[in-house]
Amino acid sequence: KFGTAVAVEEPIKPPVKVEHTQLLIGGKFVDAISGRTFPTLDPRTGDIIAHVAEGDEEDVDLAVIAARKAFDEGPWTRMTAYERSMVLYRFADLIEKHNDEIAALETWDNGKPYEQSASAEIPMLARLMRYYAGWADKIHGLVVPADGPHHVQVLQEPMGVVGQIIPWNFPLLMYAWKVGPALATGNTIVLKTAEQTPLSAIYVTNLLMEAGLPPGVLNIISGFGPTAGAALASHMEVDKIAFTGSTETGKIVVELAARSNLKPVTLELGGKSPFIVFDDADIDQAVELAHFALFFNQGQCCCAGSRTYVHERVYDEFVEKSKVRAMKRVVGDPFKKGVEQGPQIDMEQFNKIMKYIRLGKDSGATLVCGGDRFGSKGYFIQPTVFADVQEGTPIATDEIFGPVQSIFKFRNIDEVIQRANATRYGLAAGVFTSNLDTANTISRALKAGTIWINCFDVFDAAIPFGGYKMSGQGREKGMDSLKNYLQVKSVVTHLKNPAW
Ligand code: ADP
Repeated sequence: KFGTAVAVEEPIKPPVKVEHTQLLIGGKFVDAISGRTFPTLDPRTGDIIAHVAEGDEEDVDLAVIAARKAFDEGPWTRMTAYERSMVLYRFADLIEKHNDEIAALETWDNGKPYEQSASAEIPMLARLMRYYAGWADKIHGLVVPADGPHHVQVLQEPMGVVGQIIPWNFPLLMYAWKVGPALATGNTIVLKTAEQTPLSAIYVTNLLMEAGLPPGVLNIISGFGPTAGAALASHMEVDKIAFTGSTETGKIVVELAARSNLKPVTLELGGKSPFIVFDDADIDQAVELAHFALFFNQGQCCCAGSRTYVHERVYDEFVEKSKVRAMKRVVGDPFKKGVEQGPQIDMEQFNKIMKYIRLGKDSGATLVCGGDRFGSKGYFIQPTVFADVQEGTPIATDEIFGPVQSIFKFRNIDEVIQRANATRYGLAAGVFTSNLDTANTISRALKAGTIWINCFDVFDAAIPFGGYKMSGQGREKGMDSLKNYLQVKSVVTHLKNPAW
């Protein structure tokens, strides 16, 4: 039976009070100029949590003006790199101090299990801030040799006013991946949160100001994509745009950036990542990790291992064990102890996933377990496993973004490399094998930004993450993420006495 959540009936953490629902512009909480608000919903029930100020073009304008002023006039850009670094260190301390409240707010707005928010996501937010705090005073240029009587310096400068648009699946991790490198490199920011999950970013940015961030350095706009998001992407005074979301919306953002002021764009988009299990792998471990790779975060991960390829010799055993594991998955109220899977984010995603489950049933794939909604209210879906999935069918090609595992059978390494690469995406891949040569061959052959070997979803702050092909442009986290937010300036000085 699905969803037999372990005993605890009462929520382990009652939802916190919502303190901030306004826009944050120039260091002040303000209503939208239009006065409009929109509801943000509890995905467990569909009930309204709060009404949030709905930012639009004119609010984005004000936020960009505030960010420009903070960049041009300081004090942020006049502070030493060490002082900027200390703001981020203090922010990390405050995140830790308020860990449980932030985790509860995140779970309430997003639906992810509280235990995961509190023990993984929010600690990771603090970890990322310390990682970027460490970078802030270690970014510097070079002196390079050049022909002729010249002294040549290459400087690294902040881009200026940065626009950032984030999704709802990991509201605060996406915030950290964007805000961390942009602040470490000395930029100012206008960030638009996802309309499904506006609450946590405003809450933590208030802590960031308590840590010493000057007004106007980070402005938060809640609102919708085609209005507030599009206004940011097409703004003439925004120097750079960073976006995480669907590939379709990513294309719109690139177009808006190109049509306005040609601002550079970094993108982290969709995926359909293969998870490949060879017959020499530890099968029980592979089953567990393939399950985790797909079902983690309700299946709402851009890098979800959504194509499970299994060698024919271990296929039947793997499918049976995957079924047993999925049936054991604990679905329920994300505030209850032991719950592994909460609701999907909203009705739209719920309907989209249910549509793909129907398409899967129609495609000739074998429905191994699940396939229905879970319970009668909110947006819960049973952990669903399809086997014998055929290439070219919708569940094989499209990003489902839900708790639906698709298992494919393969015969040999050349075939599986070809099939794994036959996708427009290239975000990540998982490989399970005990053979070093298989691991090395396949990690060189796969066209994906991250290859996890005998592991999955390892998200260290220092490991770059991003996509090949239509999964994105640029890398987040790690040293590479700093480049997204830096301009390179060459300073060439004529030397009177080149002998020295
Ligand atoms: P999803 O379908 O998963 O919600 P989206 O790519 O639509 O993914 O959303 C990711 C982010 O992009 C959200 O903050 C959303 O508001 C924003 N967004 C959506 N449409 C646009 C658009 N036309 N221009 C700019 N941002 C947008």
